[in-house]
Amino acid sequence: MYPWLSDTYEQLISRVKKHSLHHGLLIQGVDGVGKSDFCVHLAKSILCKSDENHACGQCQSCKLYEAQSHPDLYRLETDKQVGVDLVRDAITKLSTTSQLSGNKVLIMEAADSMTDSAANALLKTLEEPTDNTYLLLISSKSEALLPTIRSRCEKVTLSCSKSDDCIAWLKAQGIDSIEPKLLKLYQNSPLTLREHLAKREGLTYASFLENLDSLQHKHNSALQLAEQWQDEAPQVVLWMQYWVADKIKSKLQDNQKVWDFHHRLLEYYQTLQNPGVNRILVLCAVLNHVVDLN
Ligand SMILES: [Zn+2]
Repeated sequence: MYPWLSDTYEQLISRVKKHSLHHGLLIQGVDGVGKSDFCVHLAKSILCKSDENHACGQCQSCKLYEAQSHPDLYRLETDKQVGVDLVRDAITKLSTTSQLSGNKVLIMEAADSMTDSAANALLKTLEEPTDNTYLLLISSKSEALLPTIRSRCEKVTLSCSKSDDCIAWLKAQGIDSIEPKLLKLYQNSPLTLREHLAKREGLTYASFLENLDSLQHKHNSALQLAEQWQDEAPQVVLWMQYWVADKIKSKLQDNQKVWDFHHRLLEYYQTLQNPGVNRILVLCAVLNHVVDLN
């Protein structure tokens, strides 16, 4: 288990054997905090037949789990919206008796992508759960779920509140010299940060800063940079928010122009979420603000 999630994990598994774990859990938190891995580990402990809190690794259930063929574990994953047929199929499976005479677990990825009819189909199971059945709904946008679904689940928010834990973990992964600042830029999502830094060809924060400096010294142009950065445009705007906020905080620049720019960056970030948007144009606008700050 990831160190930043272990306290929450221990709390939940200690409730499994006491039969006090809620049958519907909404596992929420930002992307890259480790929600899926958390649920998969939790499912193993819920299914384990031993009396221990932690999965024993020895019983029939643990062995089937390791072989990825546990008959009472259902994972609902899809690239599209979670539709009503998928949910009905999962509910039918859950309503049959456990094949190992123990608990049953359904893990649903991106639960917020459920269609309304899928959510309504699931609602009945949440209201009248079958015995020994646990539903683990994963979402990084839980506010998009139907309120009726949210209210029938116990919410478990996963986060990385101790940056030291994350930095130590990243170091163990071979990623050194991570500052808490950089982690914050990634919304305290160690897995996203690791993924991003593993892209060797990708843009780094250090090169972003260097390029901004040369833009302000007119060694390159807004258009050149926009073309260079178009694939990473949302990341660039995210970093830019931080860069500007840092200027305001350190009072290097504290005028209306900087505040306006800071405010506009939120709009630019939202514009970039539209598919088909001209990223070069948006980045040019952003970078022209940087030039204008000089
Ligand atoms: Zn076991």
